[in-house]
Amino acid sequence: MHRRQLLKGLAIASASSLLSSCGKKLVRATVSRPLCLPRVNVSSDRIIRSICGLRPYRRSGFVVRPEQIGDTLVVHNYGHGGAGITLSWGTAKLAVDLGAPGHSGPAAVLGSGVVGLSTARLLQNSGFQVTIYAKDLPPNTTSNVAGGFWYPVTLFQEQFRTAAFNDQFTRACNFAFTRYQTMVGPRYGVRWTSTFLLAQSAFPNAGDFSQKGVVGSLTPEFRDLGPGQHPFAGYEFARGFDTLLIEPPIYLTALMQDFLIAGGKVQVREFHEAAELSRLPERLVFNCTGLGAKALFNDEELTPVKGQLTFLLPQPEIDYSVVHGGLYMFSRQDGIVLGGTHDEGNWSLDVDKQVRDQIIAGHKQFFDSMRAC
Ligand SMILES: Cc1cc2nc3c(=O)[nH]c(=O)nc-3n(C[C@H](O)[C@H](O)[C@H](O)COP(=O)(O)OP(=O)(O)OC[C@H]3O[C@@H](n4cnc5c(N)ncnc54)[C@H](O)[C@@H]3O)c2cc1C
Repeated sequence: MHRRQLLKGLAIASASSLLSSCGKKLVRATVSRPLCLPRVNVSSDRIIRSICGLRPYRRSGFVVRPEQIGDTLVVHNYGHGGAGITLSWGTAKLAVDLGAPGHSGPAAVLGSGVVGLSTARLLQNSGFQVTIYAKDLPPNTTSNVAGGFWYPVTLFQEQFRTAAFNDQFTRACNFAFTRYQTMVGPRYGVRWTSTFLLAQSAFPNAGDFSQKGVVGSLTPEFRDLGPGQHPFAGYEFARGFDTLLIEPPIYLTALMQDFLIAGGKVQVREFHEAAELSRLPERLVFNCTGLGAKALFNDEELTPVKGQLTFLLPQPEIDYSVVHGGLYMFSRQDGIVLGGTHDEGNWSLDVDKQVRDQIIAGHKQFFDSMRAC
């Protein structure tokens, strides 16, 4: 694992420009008192586990489109890269709007990760009887591995986006952000978190989150902090805003419960080729197989981006999230999540000890040097 790969992920500038196309917000330019935040206690003896997952990445972004296969209408909804938790409700809405009008009878959803479950729930809300068919159920999905930070990044490369994709992306961001807000609370494991992105030079687009005429604010409490206004030594600038943190182990369990309570059925089943769909009783099928769509529907663009997370013992007093130098920290009930690796094309789910040590060392240096209150 090269350092380049380790640090590649959440590039702060591109994250800012992403959100520029996703929402708008007025800026509070100055803050009078320096921020006071508790430190994360990073040390090897506080590690409780390390896990890996494969992000289903496409350089031109996710796929939401209909395809007629024989007498079955298949609506694809996959390829969310590092933002499947974030966008799940949004692309589910796009997919259901494409497939549901004019259809009567039951519907099928392939996959029970966050995208499949959200799609299934919106179909139920529209009055359909739904069966989920999936090879693996939670907790054995990529969605269960995710950090759960609501932030639409690492799901495309800028030069491969199309205008049609931009439109879908914007609609998905807005719908998902609003929908998650109705789920804040302990039952779903969703809460607000203050977030800080750090950089050595002033952020681009400061104050301009209004490009492209998008409605709504996706970054409440947005503010830029200069030198002396934040406790993060080693970084000149901090950009702060509030966003949502979704704890996948709690959230996916609750979503599956909601699905079953609403009369949904689940069948554990693996599909090997698209032709098998014609043998299902449903004539409307939503393909939410994540990385599985590569083999099932011959999508050559779909590729894994391996991510590795290391968890430290929980520290309930840490109520903020931070992204620094490509690394990130989220504070969850089941532990402090330390991550930031993006290894494209790597299919291995093995934990790399060297990468784990690099993640720990990077975060330790960062938090140990934070200025005390
Ligand atoms: C380390 C890491 C950190 C992440 N952090 C975040 C984050 O903070 N925020 C965020 O928004 N996103 C994050 N992500 C990205 C997120 O996890 C994914 O985008 C998301 O899980 C994709 O969801 P999905 O439902 O499409 O796929 P999955 O969760 O992989 O679900 C796919 C489903 O399809 C089934 N399936 C696949 N193939 C077949 C087949 N042939 N037959 C039958 N069933 C099949 C599977 O069994 C499974 O049920 C992270 C990912 C990783 C790896």
